[in-house]
Order: sequence, then structure tokens, then C-alpha cells
Amino acid sequence: MSEASASELACEARLNLRHLPHYMDRISDRLQSFEADASQEGQRIDFRFAFGGASFDMERLVMRANAADRDGLARIKDLLATAVRVYAREENPEIVWTGDLADETRLAQLREMIVTDVRDLTPHMRRIRFAGEDLSRFAKFGGMHIRMLFPTREIPDPLWPMPGSNGLPAWPSDDRRPVARVYTIRALDVANGIIDVDFLVHPGESVGAAWAMQAAPGMKVGIMGPVGRPVRPAAWYVLGADETGLPALARLLETLPAETKGVAFVEIAEDGERQEIANATGIELHWLARNGVPAGEDRRLADAVCAVAWPQNGSAFGWFAAEAAAAKIVREHWRGTLGFGRDQTLAAAYWRRGAAGLMAG
Ligand SMILES: Cc1cc2nc3c(=O)[nH]c(=O)nc-3n(C[C@H](O)[C@H](O)[C@H](O)COP(=O)(O)OP(=O)(O)OC[C@H]3O[C@@H](n4cnc5c(N)ncnc54)[C@H](O)[C@@H]3O)c2cc1C
Repeated sequence: MSEASASELACEARLNLRHLPHYMDRISDRLQSFEADASQEGQRIDFRFAFGGASFDMERLVMRANAADRDGLARIKDLLATAVRVYAREENPEIVWTGDLADETRLAQLREMIVTDVRDLTPHMRRIRFAGEDLSRFAKFGGMHIRMLFPTREIPDPLWPMPGSNGLPAWPSDDRRPVARVYTIRALDVANGIIDVDFLVHPGESVGAAWAMQAAPGMKVGIMGPVGRPVRPAAWYVLGADETGLPALARLLETLPAETKGVAFVEIAEDGERQEIANATGIELHWLARNGVPAGEDRRLADAVCAVAWPQNGSAFGWFAAEAAAAKIVREHWRGTLGFGRDQTLAAAYWRRGAAGLMAG
């Protein structure tokens, strides 16, 4: 049930959608991939997250959210508004939340961070440490990633977003809007207010890599999040990543339970890009060097991951993060050929050859 109790925060938004039931399957599928349990009673569908609840009333065209605290309510409003905007795009829905926290002036998912340290892990991987306040929400909700908001040469002094009436970020001014790119929180220390992000310094015109190349203590960025679907618990994993997925893969190897088994492949430009990972698991790690093949053109990572035989018994999960073409090969193999669902697989495009800012919008 998603009825709010007296101690909970609650809000609702009317949906001016003529065809809400038509989108509900996809909305429901998306919310379940963020670990919501769904149940339906007549014209009403309820979703129960670990941190609160939501419901869609298809008769009255209302969606509701409730949670014990501000972070939880902001998270649920964000998940619902994003799902409705994505799947009901053709009706251009206007979402206006009323109720608790509707007149917030600070965006719950945003923090300003200051660079405190910059060091090179390998010739092309630069670790940058950031300090900020009240980072506890980045340890919640299962997402490992953040949308980083960078100043650029054209906009050296950007304005950070505010809460929009739809629960999503609203940008105060187009000419002072920072440029967003998605990165992984490689390490998080909530007590000391620190995050580390590993930036791949890739060639060509860019925003994130270009910013990282000239980063120095004292510089400011914005971060929003956490973003990303949770990786489900399992006894066995097959993992694959290129350099952009390496920070997330390394964080998984350092934080999954010691008894976890499986196999992981990491694609790097050459052997000099190998880095120390404190692998706390029984997952075997293999490095694949491209040795001159340009990034995004080598099939060996996708082929190695697809060749892995999954165990017959026990819980298993496949996770993959790399260039879009490789992610497509792996996703089609896992979902199409092997027939696994979203609850057992996550194969994501982290960048696309020739395209700027994939997933940053
Ligand atoms: C969930 C998620 C987590 C991510 N985590 C990280 C992370 O922790 N560290 C990290 O370094 N990246 C990470 N990425 C990838 C990163 O967001 C992209 O590589 C992004 O394009 C970098 O932005 P940019 O401004 O440097 O380049 P853009 O301006 O986006 O792109 C400029 C040009 O560079 C090319 N390009 C982009 N990435 C690469 C690459 N890896 N190799 C070669 N050419 C490239 C583009 O195709 C384009 O032609 C993540 C992506 C996602 C979706």
C-alpha cells in the first residue's frame, strides 16, 4: 500500500493524460527495474520502494508519492516524473506536484563540490577528489553514478538548477547553464564529505575529459544524483567494461560480498592502463588490451562476455558498461539469445563513438 502514514511526507500530481493506461506497462516496468514491488487493485497500481511508496490512479488521473524523509520523497517524485515524461512524451504532460515539499527552493539531488586533489592512476585515468556537504543521499537508492555539471570556457560561472514544479531540475538561465556529463562515484566517504571520480582522458573535443585535464584544487562543479539502476544481489556475476565502465566495475569488485563468484573482463588501451583493484570477491578479473585498435572498434570485450557460460543453478547477474555498439551486442545476447530479463541483466551504453554527452540529458 502507498497510503501515507501521519509521520510521512506525501504529495500528488494530476496527470492531464488522455491515454494513461496505455503507458502504464512501460512506466511499471521502469519503476520495477528500480526495485519497486508493484501491485494492482482495480484502476489503481501501487509501487513499494525500500524508501517509500507511489501509486497511479488511472480513473482519477492522479499519481501520488510518499516517503519518510525529504530525500526519499524527492527520489520518488524524480522517478515518477521521469517515467511519465519519457513514456507519455507524445502527450507532452504537464506535471505539477502539490503537497509536502512542493515549494522547496533547494534541489534535493544537487550538491556543489570542490576539487581537493588530482592524481593520475595511469597515463589516461585521472582520479579527482571532491569535497561537499551532506552526501548521505549518494549512498542511498542503489545508484552508483552522478550527473556532473561542468563550467566551460563559454560558461565559466554557471548557475546550478533549482527544483522545478514537476520535481525535476529547472535551469534558471539558458546562457548560464552548465554542461552535464555522467560519471561514476568510484569511492564515497559520507562521514568526511568526500567522493572520488576516475576520469578517462580520451582524445578529441570534449567537456568532461577536457575539464579533468586542467582540474586543480579549489575548482567547483555541481553533482546531481545518485543516478542509475541498482545492481541486483547474486551469488555469481559476469561483468564487462571498457575504461568508462571500469570505475563502476572496480567499485563492484571492492564492495560485493567476499563469497561472490564469477568472471570479469576489462578492456583497456594497453597494459600500462592496468590499475590496482582491491578485489574483495572470488570474481576472476581479466584485462584485455586493445594494443592500437581505436576505442569502440574492438569486439573482443563483447565476444569474451558473450562466450561466458552462466551457471545452471543459483542466482546470477550480468553487468556490462562500454561503448554503445558493444553494449548492444551483449544486451541482445543476454536478453534475446539467452532470454534473461531486466532482473538479471544490465548492459548499458556509457558512450557512443562520434556522439557527445550520451545519457547526460
Ligand atoms: C552511467 C555512466 C557512468 C559513467 N562513468 C564514467 C566514469 O566514471 N569515468 C569516465 O571516464 N567515463 C564515464 N562514463 C562515460 C562518459 O560519460 C562519456 O565518456 C562521456 O562522453 C564523456 O564526456 P566528454 O565530455 O569527455 O566527451 P563528449 O563531449 O561526450 O564526447 C566528445 C567526443 O569524444 C568521444 N568519446 C566519449 N567518450 C569516449 C571514450 N571513452 N573514448 C574515446 N572517445 C570518447 C565521443 O564519441 C565524442 O566524439 C560514464 C557514462 C555513463 C552513462
